Amino acid sequence: MSTSPPTSAEVVVVGGGLEGGAAAWALTQRGITDVTIVERDTVGSGGTGKSSGVVRCHYGVSSLAAMATRSLETF
Ligand SMILES: Cc1cc2nc3c(=O)[nH]c(=O)nc-3n(C[C@H](O)[C@H](O)[C@H](O)COP(=O)(O)OP(=O)(O)OC[C@H]3O[C@@H](n4cnc5c(N)ncnc54)[C@H](O)[C@@H]3O)c2cc1C
Repeated sequence: MSTSPPTSAEVVVVGGGLEGGAAAWALTQRGITDVTIVERDTVGSGGTGKSSGVVRCHYGVSSLAAMATRSLETF
């Protein structure tokens, strides 16, 4: 991983949070490896960093509870 500003990339992901990181990872898993994440602050400085200590599966909506349970298995 480079910290130098890239001059080009096949895909540029804006935002180094959970969504940006997941998108970049998924792209590389599908063979697109020239992916750059640009972040205006530091990686994880948004909601991702503020909530990273929270792992819960207790939700009032069953679909959310199911997604959280699946996510916990991956985590
Ligand atoms: C206290 C708290 C508790 C939470 N608890 C839960 C929970 O229990 N379960 C759950 O599923 N979710 C929870 N969340 C929500 C979850 O954390 C967020 O939905 C998720 O982290 C958002 O990820 P993101 O990548 O979309 O955004 P972020 O993590 O905010 O990342 C966006 C990034 O983009 C960068 N950015 C923005 N604009 C630009 C730009 N123009 N150029 C460059 N970079 C830019 C920002 O600096 C930031 O780093 C919680 C959130 C908080 C704050």
